[in-house]
Amino acid sequence: MSNLRFKAVATASARKAVEVPAPSAKVSDFFGSKVFNRTQMRKYLSKETFKLVLDAIDKGVPLDRDIANHVAAGMRMWAMELGATHYTHWFQPLTEGTAEKHDTFADLDGTGGVIEEFTGKLLAQQEPDASSFPSGGIRNTFEARGYTAWDPSSPAFIVDDTLCIPTIFISYTGEALDNKLPLLKAIQAADKAATAVCKYFNRDVKKVHSYLGWEQEYFLVDEALYAARPDLVLTERTLMGHESSKNQQLDDQYFGSIPSRVSAYMRDLEFECFKLGIPVKTRHNEVAPNQFEVAPIFEPANLAVDHNLLLMSTMKRVAERHFFRVLLHEKPFKGINGSGKHNNWSLGTDTGVNLLGPGKNAAENLQFITFMVNVIVAVYKNNALLKASIASADNAHRLGANEAPPAIISIFLGTTISKVLDDIEKSDASSPIKVVEKTGTRLSLSHIPEILVDNTDRNRTSPFAFTGNRFEFRAGGSSANCASAMTALNTAVAFQLVQFKKDVDALIAKGDKKEDAIFTVLRKLIKESKAIRFDGNGYSDEWKAEAKKRKLDCETCPPLIFDSYLTKQSIKLFVDTDVLTEKELHARNEVKWEIYTKKIQIEARVLGDLALNHIIPVATQYQGVLLDNVFKIKSVFDAAKSKTLASQDLALIEEISERVNIIKSMVDKMVEARKVANKIEGEREKALAYATKIFPFFDEIRYHIDKLELIVDNEMWTLPKYRELLFIR
Ligand code: ADP
Ligand code: MG
Repeated sequence: MSNLRFKAVATASARKAVEVPAPSAKVSDFFGSKVFNRTQMRKYLSKETFKLVLDAIDKGVPLDRDIANHVAAGMRMWAMELGATHYTHWFQPLTEGTAEKHDTFADLDGTGGVIEEFTGKLLAQQEPDASSFPSGGIRNTFEARGYTAWDPSSPAFIVDDTLCIPTIFISYTGEALDNKLPLLKAIQAADKAATAVCKYFNRDVKKVHSYLGWEQEYFLVDEALYAARPDLVLTERTLMGHESSKNQQLDDQYFGSIPSRVSAYMRDLEFECFKLGIPVKTRHNEVAPNQFEVAPIFEPANLAVDHNLLLMSTMKRVAERHFFRVLLHEKPFKGINGSGKHNNWSLGTDTGVNLLGPGKNAAENLQFITFMVNVIVAVYKNNALLKASIASADNAHRLGANEAPPAIISIFLGTTISKVLDDIEKSDASSPIKVVEKTGTRLSLSHIPEILVDNTDRNRTSPFAFTGNRFEFRAGGSSANCASAMTALNTAVAFQLVQFKKDVDALIAKGDKKEDAIFTVLRKLIKESKAIRFDGNGYSDEWKAEAKKRKLDCETCPPLIFDSYLTKQSIKLFVDTDVLTEKELHARNEVKWEIYTKKIQIEARVLGDLALNHIIPVATQYQGVLLDNVFKIKSVFDAAKSKTLASQDLALIEEISERVNIIKSMVDKMVEARKVANKIEGEREKALAYATKIFPFFDEIRYHIDKLELIVDNEMWTLPKYRELLFIR
C-alpha cells in the first residue's frame, strides 16, 4: 500500500493530452462558445421570438407555449451543431452543488423511425423523479414529485454532449425546494426596494441589480495520493495526519510562482470556463501549500451563482485530466489555512451607477451614503441570520480559526467612511451637513471620491468589509452555494430599505424637505447600528469579549446557529419580502440539521474505521517488530547491557500500547454515543447531539493517531502523510 504514495509522482508525468486552444487564439475567439447567449439567440431565433425572449430575460415577462416551442427548436439546433445529443434541466437542490438528469433528443416518430426533438414544454418544465432530494418534509414520499422550471435569465450551456438548462426546483404546491428560487425572489425584493429609494435621487432609475463577484479557494492533491486516503475520498477532508514539518510558516506560497503541473491545470480550467462564458480573471497561489484561488469578473448575482456552481463542477472534471483531485472542502488539512469563498457584493442601477461606490458629486454621494448606512443597519439587525446563511459543518472548522473571519459578523468600513458617518451623526440642525441640490459641493460628503481610492485601508480579518466600491462578505465557505448568503443579504437589505423609505416618507409628509428627512433618518440609523462597526483585529480575544458586550451573535455551534432562521424577526423578514414562507423556512432548517448530522455521522464512521483497521493494526505490527528486537537484544547481551540497549524500544512499545488503548476505547465510546444520538427523533436535537456528544471525540482520537504517525516506521504507515499530500511535484 505504501507504494501508492510513490506511484503518484510517476502518474504525473503520464498526463493525457487535453484539448487546448489554438496557439494564436484569443479569449474573445472562444468566449461563450458553449453558451446559448444573445449572439446565438439572434442567429437561431426569429426576430420576433428573440425580442420576446429578451423581454423575458430583462423584464421577467412570461413566455407563452408557442414562443417556448420556437426557443426550444432554436436551442436544439444550436446544441446539435455543437455535438449535443442530450438535454437536462440543471437545478440546485438543497444539498450543495447541482443536479441533472439527462435525456436524449431522440424520440420515436410514430412511423417506426426516430427523430430529434425538443419542445417548448420540455424546455419550460419537467418533473425529475426527484423524491430523494432533501425537502425537509415538504414532500411526503407519496406526493414525491416536484418540478423544475426554466430560468430564462441564466443562459443554457453545453457540457460534454449535454445541453444544460438552468431551472428552479419547486414542489407541486409551489414551495421552493432549491437554492435558486429564493435567490431570484431576494434579488427581486432588493431591486424593488432599492429602486424606490433611488427615486429620491434620480427618477430615471427603473431597476437595481444585485452583483456578485466570488473568489473561489481550493486545494489540489495528486489523484493517486488522494485514492490512498479513504478519509479524503469519503469526507473530502483528512481526519488524521500529523502536520508537515514545513507547511506555510515561511510565507513562501501566497502569490508565489505556480508549479508547472498546476499552471497547466489552471490554463485548461480557464479555457473550459471561457467556453462556458464564465469570465474568470484572476488566478494565484493561496497561503497554504497546494492551495489556490480563481476569481471572475463580477456579474448579476443569479448568473454569478450559476457560474460558480458550474465552475466547481468544471474544476473537478478538468482536475481528473491532470491526475489531480480538487478539494473544495473548507478545511481539508489541519494546521494550515482552510478555504473560503469571498462574496463581493454590490447594488447598481440600470443607469450605470454603483450604489455602493462614492459618487462624482454631492447628490450621488448622499445616495451612496444612504445605501451604505442601510446596508450597515441590515447587517447589524440580521448579523445572526447572515452567519446562519454561511454556517455548515464544514465551514465551522474555518470560522474562528486564525485564518478566517471569526464566528461573529461585524463590519469594517475603513477610516474615510467611518469619519463621514461620524460627521453625519454629530451634525445637527445648527451644524447640518447639507447637500446643495443643483450645483456646488459641500462638506465632507464631497471629499469621499478623492480619499476612497486608497487601497491600503483594508482589513483582512473582517467578515464583512467595505472595499471601496462593494462589500466583501468573507465568511462564506469554499464548497458552499453562494445563493444562500446572497439570498439572506439581499433580503435583509430589501427589508431595511423598505423601512427606511417609510421613515423618510413619514417625515416628508410632515413637511420636512427631502434631504433633511433623509439626513434625519440616516443620523438615527447611524447611531442605532454602531455596534456592528469594528475596524480592529477580528482574530483577537478582546474582540470576542467586546462583541459579546455589544450583543452581537457569538454562537459557534452550527445546529444552534441555524436557529437564527426561525426567529420571529427572520420569519418576518423573509415573509414580508416574499422570499420564503414560514413553512419553507422550517422545512429548510430541517434539511440543514439533517445534513449536519449526516456529515458528522459519516466522518465519525470513517474515523472509527480507519482507526481500527488502518492505524491500530499498523501500530501493533510495528510494536511487534520492536518486541522482536528486544528479544533478540536479550538473547545476545547480558541482562544489564540489554536493559540499556533495549530501553528506547521498550519506551516505544509502551507508548504504542497506551495510545492504541486510548484510541480503541475512544472509538468504542464514540460508537456508543452515536447509537444514542441516532435514536433521537427531532432533526435539531439529533444535530445538536452530534455536535456536542460525537464531534468532540474527533480531535481526541486524532491526537493519538497523529502521535503514532510520528513514531511508527514510515515504510509501514499505510496513509499518505501531509508532507506528501501537500507538495505537488
Ligand atoms: P481581492 O483578493 O483583492 O479581494 P479579487 O480581485 O481577488 O480581489 O476579487 C475581487 C472580486 O470582486 C472580483 O470578482 C471582482 O470582479 C469583484 N468586484 C469588483 N467590483 C465589484 C462590485 N462593484 N460589485 C461586486 N463585485 C465586484
Ligand atoms: Mg477578496
